[in-house]
This record gives sequence, C-alpha cells and structure tokens, in this order.
Amino acid sequence: MTTYSLLILPGDGIGPEVMAEVRKVIGWFETNRGLSFDVSEDLVGGAAYDKHGKPLSDETMARAQSVDAVLLGAVGGPKYDNLDFSVKPERGLLRLRKEMDLFANLRPAQCFDALADFSSLKRDVVAGLDILIVRELTSGVYFGEPRGIHSDDNNPQNEGGRVGINTQRYTSGEIRRVARAAFELARKRGNRVCSMEKANVMESGILWREEVQWVHDNEYADVELSHMYADNGAMQLVRNPRQFDVIVTDNLFGDLLSDAAAMLTGSLGMLPSASLGAPMANGRPKAMYEPVHGSAPDIAGQGKANPIACILSFAMALRYSYDLGAEADLLERAVEKVLADGVRTADLMGPQGGKPVSTAEMGDHIVKA
Ligand code: ATP
Ligand code: MG
Repeated sequence: MTTYSLLILPGDGIGPEVMAEVRKVIGWFETNRGLSFDVSEDLVGGAAYDKHGKPLSDETMARAQSVDAVLLGAVGGPKYDNLDFSVKPERGLLRLRKEMDLFANLRPAQCFDALADFSSLKRDVVAGLDILIVRELTSGVYFGEPRGIHSDDNNPQNEGGRVGINTQRYTSGEIRRVARAAFELARKRGNRVCSMEKANVMESGILWREEVQWVHDNEYADVELSHMYADNGAMQLVRNPRQFDVIVTDNLFGDLLSDAAAMLTGSLGMLPSASLGAPMANGRPKAMYEPVHGSAPDIAGQGKANPIACILSFAMALRYSYDLGAEADLLERAVEKVLADGVRTADLMGPQGGKPVSTAEMGDHIVKA
C-alpha cells in the first residue's frame, strides 16, 4: 500500500488552530478510505524561534526536502516584530521556498456557489468558477540584473537627476520548467493552458511565448494551449473568468493577476495556495501547500479562524502531490456542501448576520459532510 508522507508545519497565530482541522480530515481519509499517511509535525516561524533561536532548524529543512508534501499554517505575529531580520519568522518560510527551489506558485480561484455574493463581480459571472494561476516565482524582473537607482547627472533633461533600473530577464530553461508544471497541472484538471505575456512589447515576452509553445508541441500536444497578452488577460479575468482553466505567466504579471483573481472569490479565509519545485525521484514535484492568509494575530486563540483555506490547501496536496484527484474532489465537495447548508465562520457572515460557528465546528461539519 502506498504511504503518503506529509510534513505539517503549523507555525504561529491561527496556524495551529486551522491545522488541527486538517488533522481531522486526514483522520477521516485514513479511517474511511483506507489511505495511509505518514504525518510528521515540526516547528516553523516564531514557534521555532522560541525553541531553537531561529525560524527554521536544519533538521526541519532536511525533513521538508524528503517528504512528498509540506503543509504550512502561517508564520509571524506582533511578539516577533522587533526581532533582527535574520531570525524573523518570515525568514523560515523564505528558506523553505528557496532551498526547495519552489519556482511555480499556484493560486486557484474557485468560487463556491453559496459564496458567490462575496465576489467583487456579479454572481452570474463567477458562480462555479474554478481556475488556477501558475506564477513563475524565482526569476523575472524581481531578480534580474542590472538593477539599482543611479544618478543621471549628465542628463540635463532629467529633472531630479536620477534613474531607477530593473531588468526583466528569463532564460529558456526557466520558462520551460514552469511551462511543464502548468501542463502537468492542466492534465489533472480541464486540460487547457493559457499563457500570458507581452510579446508585443517585450523581448522576454517573445521568448516566453516561443518556449511555452515549444514545450507544448514537443511534450504536451494533448493539452490545449492558447496565448494572450497579459493586459488583455487582466481584462478577460474580470470580464469572463470562467473561460480559463490554467493560466501560466511570469513573476510580475502573476503577482498582479493572482491578486485580482483572489477577489473574484471573496474571503481571505477561503484561499489555498501551493508552491511547486522540480520533480523528485517518484516523478512528483517538490511541494509546499499553505493558505494565502497570514497568522491573523487579531483573532488568534479565539476559535474564530476559518479553517477552509488550510483544508483546501490539503485538497491541493491530495490532487497534485499524491495523485488522489477523486479524494480531492470529495473534500472540495464537502466544503461546498457545508457552505450550501449555510454553515459560516465569522469571516463569512454577510450583512444579514446569523450565528457563526467556531473553527473546530467548521472542521467537524466538513468531516461529517
Ligand atoms: P501576512 O502579513 O502574514 O501575510 P496579514 O497580516 O497581511 O498577513 P492576515 O494575518 O492574513 O494578514 O490577516 C488579515 C485579516 O484577515 C485579519 O483581520 C485576519 O483576522 C483576517 N483573517 C485572515 N485569515 C483568516 C481566517 N482564516 N479566518 C478568518 N479571518 C482571517
Ligand atoms: Mg501579518
């Protein structure tokens, strides 16, 4: 029997609270579906700093490298705000991302019918929406050299006399690996990829388009591929988002497009994410899953946090790290049913009000469903 390894890093604030609900879900799959998970748990962020004096120990880092998937809660909190930069809780997260070389950031935008009125768009545009944005995370204009702010003194036309420079730089290899990630994901979903760049004005955009097309033609001809200029993509995303399945794009455009897409679905407490790296020996990518929200110190310890973002992050692990698509569907349908039944944590209460359930009660409802 296959055993699925998972490293749980609850972290700080509401991290441990929402992770406890994922534990219930894992328990359900073990008892009722006969699945076998090898779950280990460790410290990250402020919790790790309190114990080891640093936000991620070498042992935890090594363990993260060896498992099928890492599931992280959240890091940080006011208690750690004045720490030296080198030991800040966020540095634990950054070390995981960097050393695991997680170059593809996945942000799904899924709109559950019961919450369609939370969207910034009209219900009939977003109901049933289920798209996935794949953002290149380790290159592009955020890292390209040369960069800097220089004096531009010998240019008398330049009022203020300074120039700021960033470089958008992509290698073919960087583009091919994130394209492969997107095509692999599409095969587990709707089998369609739309690649977004600005090949009309950028050299890196021309290369992006050519290389994505190359990967398609040589390795993923079975997946439907289209190309779109990113500005048109932004427009289409708020005009008719359901036309997309998987969107693959660079670091900068992905930053903008995934934040815009998040608002199509509503509450922060609902949004999962994943970051993928290179394929491991078993053919599956290195992966870390985490809710989009942070440690929410304002509600930590009160049983108010919505555990759905973390539970849906685990559903992504089921689908993309363990190849358990049917189980991922089942879990997402359970979330959908609970929402349709009107069960709401405080963050999902509309203006009409009502009585919110606690974090633990939401978890129990989902397990029951
Ligand atoms: P970070 O800086 O760690 O990325 P942040 O401080 O910008 O995060 P969060 O910690 O995510 O933001 O909190 C933003 C707001 O959203 C807070 O008011 C918080 O209570 C609320 N919030 C975040 N996550 C949840 C959740 N799972 N359930 C309910 N409310 C949440
Ligand atoms: Mg914060």
